[in-house]
Formats: sequence, structure tokens, C-alpha cells
Amino acid sequence: MEQKLYIYNTLSRRKEVFEPLHAPLVGMYVCGPTVYGNPHLGHARPAITFDLLYRYLTHIGYKVRYVRNITDVGHLENDADEGEDKIEKKARLEQLEPMEVVQFYTNRYHKVMDQLNVLSPSIEPHASGHIIEQIQAIHSIIESGYAYVSDGSVYFDVQKYDKDHDYGILSHRNIEEMLNTTRDLDGQNEKRSKVDFALWKKASPEHIMRWPSPWSDGFPGWHIECSAMSIKYLGQEFDIHGGGLDLMFPHHECEIAQNTAMEKHRVVKYWMHNNMITINGQKMGKSLGNFINLEEFFTGSHRMLAQAYAPMTIRFFILQAHYRSTVDFSNEALQAAEKGLNRLLDAYRAINRIKPAGNSSADVQGLRQKCYDALNDDLNSAIVLSHLYEAATIINSAVAGTVNLTQADIDEVRGLYDTFLFDILGIKDDKQQGNNSEAFGKAMDILLDIRAKAKENKDWATSDRIRDELTEAGFEIKDGKDGAEWKLK
Ligand code: ZN
Repeated sequence: MEQKLYIYNTLSRRKEVFEPLHAPLVGMYVCGPTVYGNPHLGHARPAITFDLLYRYLTHIGYKVRYVRNITDVGHLENDADEGEDKIEKKARLEQLEPMEVVQFYTNRYHKVMDQLNVLSPSIEPHASGHIIEQIQAIHSIIESGYAYVSDGSVYFDVQKYDKDHDYGILSHRNIEEMLNTTRDLDGQNEKRSKVDFALWKKASPEHIMRWPSPWSDGFPGWHIECSAMSIKYLGQEFDIHGGGLDLMFPHHECEIAQNTAMEKHRVVKYWMHNNMITINGQKMGKSLGNFINLEEFFTGSHRMLAQAYAPMTIRFFILQAHYRSTVDFSNEALQAAEKGLNRLLDAYRAINRIKPAGNSSADVQGLRQKCYDALNDDLNSAIVLSHLYEAATIINSAVAGTVNLTQADIDEVRGLYDTFLFDILGIKDDKQQGNNSEAFGKAMDILLDIRAKAKENKDWATSDRIRDELTEAGFEIKDGKDGAEWKLK
């Protein structure tokens, strides 16, 4: 690979050179949604973060197998081992089959991912489609001695595991601290210790989502699906496991313990976590009334939103920050992102209007490597955007005639946007498809030229008609002393 990529490994807590186990193949697993509600901002950030990684790895020549799961069973309320299954609860409230709930919200998730221009993963396995693999995984953990059966349920023996392997290596928690902070919950008398977690739960009589197993008719715990499905599709050792920081403990910590119990060695080489999103400085939460889902952002229908925000504004806003820093949503911040994105897109469209000069008075040739350097430094999309703003300033000056660019420079600057803004950052020009912009710009020039000729011939009917109909179609036409200029409103 030409590019030397560094990524921050949450496990070692430092940036490491990315060296895949079987280059050019890369195995990447990201925890997907639990499909019991509308996709919201908390879903957008990991999806966009790992979409950026997926796009960049592909761009620099790797062949990526990207697995992102759908959790459709076993995720109980409060993320603990007790309470109702989140999907089953929704199904009961809406009087639907649990799988109708799963299908409905999976479709919604796919729709908003499409709107956000998030590429589909290579494999999208459902937990409910991998019960056999999960039962096998639980078997092998019992055989290794780190799990026990208790009244038809199976629990992971955290204290025994901790003696041999150190539980908490990812989140840097120790077991005494966990024993002191874990709440006592009903049903924990089945567990040897309150820090143990469920691998299999015996279903109560009213529980609908149930499967036969050697231990009971029941269902898998939340954490085992990701161990079972990642190893099934990516092998006993694979490169990257990602997800939101909120999943680091207990979900990913439990995955590491399960993996080590099963495989007797480290399974994941690089753990990556995106940071969280707050709204007006507050955590998102249903009880706080600031839980805005993505469709509400796109339509502006939530009472906290001053306007609708296009999917690309949301994507751009998330990419404006480095993925390991927090992001705070507010109307002001989103409006600023919308402006910033428009500035870049306007500059891109204006490239057609630059008249090439014989020599150059601005340095655009160095920008490409600077953008690569930023991405190679743990995917710093924020710095990439600062270089693209720099390019926008040069383009605008070249259009105004205060800076000279050669034809090679003009091509370079267009290529810079095509590579980084469109291909790697995954921004779409919703008003104008990037690839057609050159032809589109020429067609506009032809129309405005006909209008100028009509004006010269005092054919006001034609010149007014062109202006009025273009205005109606969404263009803004401005007459200047050097002729007419246009932009999309
Ligand atoms: Zn997971």
C-alpha cells in the first residue's frame, strides 16, 4: 500500500500502524443497530465513521470484508440480563409479530443509511439467523470452563476468567470496582456472582422469541451474537472491530472474554470506537425529550429543530469532527455545517468557470498529499475538510481573476474534490450530480449565451423567458458587467 495508515487502537490506547493479518484482505466487524425503533443520531455516527474507514481502506487498495450485524433478539431492556426483550416489548405494544418489528425497522434503517450515503456492508447477518452458531459458541465456552449452567440458563464466569486472563482490558475497569458498582437485580441468585453475564437465558412461559437448546427453550444473551457471527464470517483472528464508545463496556468487554475463552488467543487486532453525540450539551435520552430521530432531522418536524436539515448536512456535520472527539448538535452548529458544505459545493461547481492561465500563482499541487496525511493520521476528516476549504478559497480567487491557475491545476483541484469530498468522505451533491457537473455547467453557459444574444437583439421575450424559467427551476441568475452568473438556490 502506498499510504501508511495509523489508527488508534482502544485496546492498547495508542495509535498503531495498520497492518492487516492477510493483506490485501481486511476483515472488519461493526456492531449494528438493535432494530426496535427509528434510527437516530446515535446510529448515524458509527455508521458514518466506519463508512469513512471502509471507503478509505478500499481507496488505498485493500479488499475489505465489512460485516455489520442486525441485533434482532436477546437485547434486553436496560442492556442487562433482566427485563423484556426490546423487540418483543415493541411487538407486544404494537400488536405485531416480533419479526414484523424487525423487518419494519430494518427497512427504515436501510433507508436512512441510503440517504446518508452510507455504503452497504458486505454481509449483514441477523442474530436470529445464527442461533445454531451461538449455541455452538456457548458449548465451547462451557467446555473451556468459563461458563456454567444454572436452572436452564448459561452464565459466563467472570471471576474465574479474570484470574486467568484479566477481565476489563478494554475498558480498564477492575473486578472489585465492578462488584461495588453493579446493581443487585432480580434473578441474580442464578448467578455465582453479580458481574457474571448471560450467554443463554431460559425463556419464561410468556416469552415468544425462543429456540430449543441443550439447556432449555430460550434465547441467546446479547453479547454472544457478535462473537459468534464475527468469527463465522471473518475467522478466528481478524483485523478491525468497531462500534460506539457506549458499547465498549459491557458489550465489547464481554465479547473479548467470550472470544478468548473460545479461541484461547486474541481474536481482534484493532478495536476502534467513535465518540458520542450530545444535543445542546446534553446526553440524548427519551426521558429528556431531546431524542430526535433522523427522519425528523430530514423533515424538520421535531419541535427542537429550527428547520429541516438535508442528510448531507448531517453527514458533513459528523465528518467535521474527528471521530474520537465528542460532537454537540445544535441548530446553530447545523446551520454552520450547512453553510460550510454549500461553500465547498459552490466552489466545486465554479471550477468550470475558471479560465486557465499560462502560469500558476497558487499552490494546489501539495493539497492532495496533505489530505492523505490527515486520513493516515487516524482518519482525521476534520483536517481533510480544512484543506478542501483552502482549495475553495483558491478556486473562488481564480474565478474572480485574482489568482492564476494552469489547466493542470484546475484538473488537480477538481480531482481533489472528486477523491476526497465525494469518494472518501462520501458527500453527494444533492443538487447536482458530481460527475455530470461539467456537462451541466456547459449547458447553463449555452443557455445564458442565448439569453445574452437575445438581449443584444432586443428580443426581450426570449431573454425574460430564459431568466424566469430558470428561476422557477431553482436557479438564481445574476446580471453583472461581465455577463450573467448563475447558481442553484
Ligand atoms: Zn456487537
